Amino acid sequence: MTGTAPAPFTADDYRARMERAARQAAEAGLAGLLVAPGPDLVWLTGYTPTAVTERLTLLVLAAGRDPVLVVPTLEAPDAERAPAARALTLRDWTDGKDPYAVTAALLDTEGLLRGPKGVGGAPLGISDNTWALHLLGLQRALPGTSYASLTEALPMLRAVKDAAELDLLAAAGAAADAAFEEIRQVAFAGRRESDVAADLAALLRRFGHSQVDFTIVASGPNGANPHHEVGDRVIERGDMVVLDFGGLKDGYGSDTSRTVHVGEPTDEERRVHDLVREAQEAGFRAVRPGVACQEVDRAARAVIADAGYGEYFIHRTGHGIGVTTHEPPYMIEGEERPLVPGMCFSVEPGVYLPGRFGVRIEDIVTVTEDGGRRLNDTAREMVIVD
Ligand code: ZN
Ligand code: ZN
Ligand code: ZN
Repeated sequence: MTGTAPAPFTADDYRARMERAARQAAEAGLAGLLVAPGPDLVWLTGYTPTAVTERLTLLVLAAGRDPVLVVPTLEAPDAERAPAARALTLRDWTDGKDPYAVTAALLDTEGLLRGPKGVGGAPLGISDNTWALHLLGLQRALPGTSYASLTEALPMLRAVKDAAELDLLAAAGAAADAAFEEIRQVAFAGRRESDVAADLAALLRRFGHSQVDFTIVASGPNGANPHHEVGDRVIERGDMVVLDFGGLKDGYGSDTSRTVHVGEPTDEERRVHDLVREAQEAGFRAVRPGVACQEVDRAARAVIADAGYGEYFIHRTGHGIGVTTHEPPYMIEGEERPLVPGMCFSVEPGVYLPGRFGVRIEDIVTVTEDGGRRLNDTAREMVIVD
């Protein structure tokens, strides 16, 4: 993604997000938050530099203080047009200056490095995708400071979506559904996986995606590898084909999987597909407020394990989605944090039979007061393609 996100959020929306993030950081025992270009910066400000380079761009947040965006002088005009520009102060630095010294001075004047929460005290939260170059520069300029991963310290910061975000995720899901309705009409047998993947990418774009993150087309034995890279294998009659595709539409993600069969399936293929479908339904039905994330995983996994295929379900059941296509919350054993209305995540159990075939069915689901609501809703029955 380049430029600023086209999302319908105002400077006031971003101000509220930045205040919430700073407050949560303080509650988590952090001195403040440092956020480099990436999904957290997009969510907090709507801003992405046209090119992410070695020049430091960094948002500095701390409870009770005005947000400051450190930017290279030559990018300041772009930053001034960011959706959140009215809600923050720009501090630009010119080539030849040390941006880490500029940031260090800023942190010092903001009082983040003094007193009980100063150097050697509370860590600064830093966004996960900050380049090592920048973190090392900060450590050099601010010896004695310590850092914590923003995602580890505040895993649920972006997890609960507001109404406008839910609308955008629903629109991305509807676009992915439309792409599936079209792809099921195309010829599979005799074409390479990469040809069908190119069709899928074109369809996602036609239905409004500005960014395609993945178009997995895993045919026959390739389907047994959940993250199969699309290759030159020619799809044959009799193949199961796992389709898993998604990306960003208007700044928010889609991610769906359906498994189709080329021609008539065998009884076993039908049985395994029915089993995964039943597991996906069980995971979906487990979704309601207050339930631990791991319960969604357990509900889907129990169906597959009870049928004797437990060892062939080799990944977690789901992951969150928002301004990225993989983020917290994770539907995984050991994740005891509760589901909260507004969370959005995938429910995507699968069965992978090495050397033979795989089946995965994936929908994006949001938590409502009454249970789960699917943001993908094309047929989950096995679709027969040509
Ligand atoms: Zn078959
Ligand atoms: Zn997927
Ligand atoms: Zn997924």
